[in-house]
Amino acid sequence: MTSEEIKAAYSMRDVLARYGLQPNRSGFICCPFHREKTASMKIYQDSYYCFGCGAHGDIFDFVSEMEDITFREAFFELGGTYEQKKETFSERMARYHARKERDRRQRQEEDLKEQRKINNELIDIYGDVLTLSAPLSDLWTESYNKLQYQLYLHEILNEPR
Ligand SMILES: [Zn+2]
Repeated sequence: MTSEEIKAAYSMRDVLARYGLQPNRSGFICCPFHREKTASMKIYQDSYYCFGCGAHGDIFDFVSEMEDITFREAFFELGGTYEQKKETFSERMARYHARKERDRRQRQEEDLKEQRKINNELIDIYGDVLTLSAPLSDLWTESYNKLQYQLYLHEILNEPR
């Protein structure tokens, strides 16, 4: 049962009966969570509130407090079950495609990073060659042309996208 189904199946009174507790004619019981002689815990259809100590909650809270167990354990104690929701085929496909798309973008991003790194290195290298070689020599001219190309690539690789 889901928590909603449990609440529909058990009222606060049903739960109180498990512990031998019964509300008086005005719907109060002596609070089990603090010592008192006059009943100051008001019992509603699906909740409780103690005017003495402020304890309040629903049927799960009550069982949890009474037995000193967790809310989750109280839920199971009252017959609760968690249903594993089955994924439909199209949901699985959508998840699969979303993951593939994410992987693809990540690879693209990594490729771009790598290309930028190589580009920066080449710009440095050709720049060095230009300063170290005789101007207008074959090596200088070749490096100059290659540097122009890398500078052009640099623009493209660093365009905001
Ligand atoms: Zn109380």
